[in-house]
Amino acid sequence: MSKPNIDLLPQSALQHEDGTPLIIAGPCSAESEEQVMQTALQIKEVPGVSVYRAGIWKPRTRPNSFEGVGVPGLKWLKRVKQETGLKVACEVANAMHVYESLKHGIDILWIGARTTVNPFTVQEIADALRGVDIPVLVKNPVNPDLQLWIGAIERLNQAGIKQLGGIHRGFSTFDNAPYRNMPKWNSAIEFKRLVPELPLICDPSHIAGKRELLQPIAQKAMDLAMDGLMIETHIDPSVALSDAAQQVTPTDLQKLLSSIRFGKVEADTPEDHEQLEEMRREIDQLDNELMEVFARRARMSRKIGQYKKEHNMTILQVKRWDQILEDILDKAKKEGLDEKFVRSIFQTVHHQSINIQTEILNGKAEE
Ligand code: PEP
Ligand code: MN
Repeated sequence: MSKPNIDLLPQSALQHEDGTPLIIAGPCSAESEEQVMQTALQIKEVPGVSVYRAGIWKPRTRPNSFEGVGVPGLKWLKRVKQETGLKVACEVANAMHVYESLKHGIDILWIGARTTVNPFTVQEIADALRGVDIPVLVKNPVNPDLQLWIGAIERLNQAGIKQLGGIHRGFSTFDNAPYRNMPKWNSAIEFKRLVPELPLICDPSHIAGKRELLQPIAQKAMDLAMDGLMIETHIDPSVALSDAAQQVTPTDLQKLLSSIRFGKVEADTPEDHEQLEEMRREIDQLDNELMEVFARRARMSRKIGQYKKEHNMTILQVKRWDQILEDILDKAKKEGLDEKFVRSIFQTVHHQSINIQTEILNGKAEE
C-alpha cells in the first residue's frame, strides 16, 4: 500500500506537545447526569487524563439493549467540561450526531469501529463536518482492513478535517480468545509506518473485553510508541448499562496508569544514542546476511526445480518437508528460539521455494 497524503495542522489537540501520551477516560455510555458527573469528578483527579469520553448513542450488537441516552447526555458532557476543565469526546455515527455534538460544544469526536467499515456513512459524517475545525479520531474498522481504516481518515481529511488520529481497538476475527477483539499489533505498526504524522491511540478496553486483561495490552501499546490510551472508566462498573466487564473505577484507572512504563522514543544523551546506533548497525548487518542467505536459497530452489523438471518429479515431497521441519524445530529449541516464530518463518520460506519450483516447471521463470 502506498503512503497516503494526509494534510494535518502542525499542532493538534490529539497530541501533547511535550510528547506525553493522550489519556482519554470515561464511561462506555453516559447513563445519567449523576453517573456522568461523579465519574468525571473522580477522573479529573487522575494524573495524566485530559479527555473525558462517554458514548451518547450506542451501537449495540443486539436490539432491545441500552442504546444510549441521546441528546440530553450532551448537556451532561457540557457540564463536565465546565466543572472539570477536561475536554469532552463522544462517538458520532451519522450527520445528526455531528450537528448535535457541535451544537453542544463537544471538543473531540470519534468514529466507531462499526461506522468505519461503511464508506457511505463515513462520507456522510465527513460532509457534515465540512468547514468545521474539530479533532476527529477514527477507530479501526471491525474487520482487519487497513485500507478501509486509512480510507475513512482520507475522507475526513478531504472534507477539511486537519486534526486526525487513529484508534486501535482490535479486530473481530474467527477466534478472538482470550480477547473481545483481537489486537493486531502488526496493523498498528503498519498504520504508523504509512501515516507517521498521525497520532495512534490504543483502546485496551474494547480489545480486552474484561478489565483483568487491560494492563498488558496498555503496556504493549506504550512499548510500541503509540500516542495515547482510551480506557473505559465508570463510577460503578458493576451496574454499568453497557460493557460492564471491561470498565474500571477511577481508582483502578489510576492504579493501572501508574503501573505502566511510559518509555521515550529517543535516548537521553548523544552517548546513549550512539550506543544504540552501534547495536542497530549490527542488526542491519545481520539483516543483510539474512537477505543474502534468502537469495542463495532462492537460487538453489531454482536449480532443484530444474532438476525435478528434467526428471519428471513432483515438487512437494511431504516426507522431505516433514524432516526439514523436524530438524529445524529441534535446532530452534536448542538455540532457545520461539517455536511458533521459527515454524512460521520456515513455512513461508518453504512455500516460496514451492512457488519458485512451480514457475520453473510451468516454464514461467528463467531457468
Ligand atoms: C465505544 O468506544 O464505546 C465503542 C462502541 O467502541 P467500538 O466502536 O470500538 O466498538
Ligand atoms: Mn464500550
